[in-house]
Amino acid sequence: MHDPSLPLVYLVGAGPGDPGLVTLRAVECLQRADVVLHDKLVSPRVLDLAPANSLRICVDQLPGEHPQRWPYIHQVMLEHARTGRVVVRLKGGDPFIFGRGGEEAEVLRAAGIPFEVVPGVTAALAASAYSEIPLTHRACASAVALITGHENPTKPEISLDWKALAQFPGTLAIYMGIARLELIVQVLLQHGKPSDTPAAVVQLASTGHQQTRTTTLAKLADVVRDEGLMAPAIILIGPVVGLRPEKSWFERRPIFGQRVLVTRPQHQAGEMLRRLEELGAIPYLLPAVEVHDPKDWRPVDEAISRLHDFSWLVFTSSNGVQKFFVRLLGLGHDLRNLAGVKIAVIGPGTADALRRFHLQPDLVPETFHSEALAAMLCERAAGQRILLVRADRGRDVLRQELSKTCEVEQVAVYSQADAVEPDSRILRSLSRGEIRYITFTSSNIARATLRHLDDICRLRIRQGTVKIVTISPVTSAAVREFGMDVAAEAREYTVEGLLKALVELHQASGSHATSTS
Ligand code: SAH
Repeated sequence: MHDPSLPLVYLVGAGPGDPGLVTLRAVECLQRADVVLHDKLVSPRVLDLAPANSLRICVDQLPGEHPQRWPYIHQVMLEHARTGRVVVRLKGGDPFIFGRGGEEAEVLRAAGIPFEVVPGVTAALAASAYSEIPLTHRACASAVALITGHENPTKPEISLDWKALAQFPGTLAIYMGIARLELIVQVLLQHGKPSDTPAAVVQLASTGHQQTRTTTLAKLADVVRDEGLMAPAIILIGPVVGLRPEKSWFERRPIFGQRVLVTRPQHQAGEMLRRLEELGAIPYLLPAVEVHDPKDWRPVDEAISRLHDFSWLVFTSSNGVQKFFVRLLGLGHDLRNLAGVKIAVIGPGTADALRRFHLQPDLVPETFHSEALAAMLCERAAGQRILLVRADRGRDVLRQELSKTCEVEQVAVYSQADAVEPDSRILRSLSRGEIRYITFTSSNIARATLRHLDDICRLRIRQGTVKIVTISPVTSAAVREFGMDVAAEAREYTVEGLLKALVELHQASGSHATSTS
């Protein structure tokens, strides 16, 4: 039930693209959302902050073309709010800067619906920061004007005073200016803006697709046309543009602009996606496997009821840790049930999952695979009873090896299935060769993904234009079963190790020097 003291609608700024630029308040609102009514440009990574069962409506799905669509947006927002649903109206950048957020607030006020406005990082700020063009500078700009380029500057009915803007003593930041750029430049020149004033275009600021070009006001329209720059872009005009380095801190990121496929299950992918973004990449998520509860919990529950029978608990995945402890706690037990039981894990990722339950592993092998874990345990736990906690499918080598010296019982705490419907848009991007790197973090994931790839994509992998990077030799072996090459393999068998291998591969190929898109 909605708390009547709280707003029903949140007009929230989603920022310019980088999901790291949403505010904490935006996250809080999204977590509370029953309905998210969002602009097309909002990143899916921001949308995923809303509960999985929330209703997501892109304004593009509503009837009509752009200007005619507004009444429908208002209508949908009001309809849901009137039934008591919490609506987050999620808008690109800031809601009150060229986003018609003002009109939406008026509509809500008129309808008597309580609302809150959450500001966002507007595109001009992102273009400035991410291309290293300060909007103000003590030496050359003491004011900034945010301008819409949407109005036709030659029509008499326009409300913008371009003459005043040409004389404005500061930086001009023009939104929605690409379509009418020639006219805008012409009018500024006519009104006396010097033709050699530095000017920049920043397309898709703060995303891995960002492109920045600098030139002069006189040449601006030609540069945009010749280089095929498109909306959404911000145009910055003023001496501050001259302060830009050849490449900004953002554009220098090690795999800037590279499209990288992540194939982990959705619930485990977040951190890897974020790390890829931090490295400058454009991550695509194609979860190849899904993790479900086991078909039968009884063997697990039974093992949990007599944990003291075991000397060791062994975990081979963070999913295993998560599922096991959630079940144990759900049954009304707590960590004291583990008193005296030692815990072994396969690697640092699994160890981290364990620490989230306030437990430290007693044993982590030096190299993170089943053989190494088995070798250490066979020695340390010889003659003892071991509970192996795992998935219902996967390699059997650990159980086999441990059985040589120990008494092993195993339980499946989760079942893994191939994802049913891979996203066809991502599959198409793969066969067009747009996605350059494919990452695999387990052999199951590799097999499940490779089964979906078409012949063209397979050919690209064989030719080396699409490259596979894996987390370990076991995962690489699964790739080779499909007759495909592995371009790089992690030296440390962790996601961080995999990303390191990817960065090294990219830098060795030298392509980072030329590619900006
Ligand atoms: N409310 C938004 C602006 C909406 S108007 C904000 O505060 O940012 C849409 C215009 O914003 C686009 O035409 C473009 O000029 C600009 N824009 C939005 N996202 C952008 C981005 N990531 N990079 C560059 N410009 C962007």
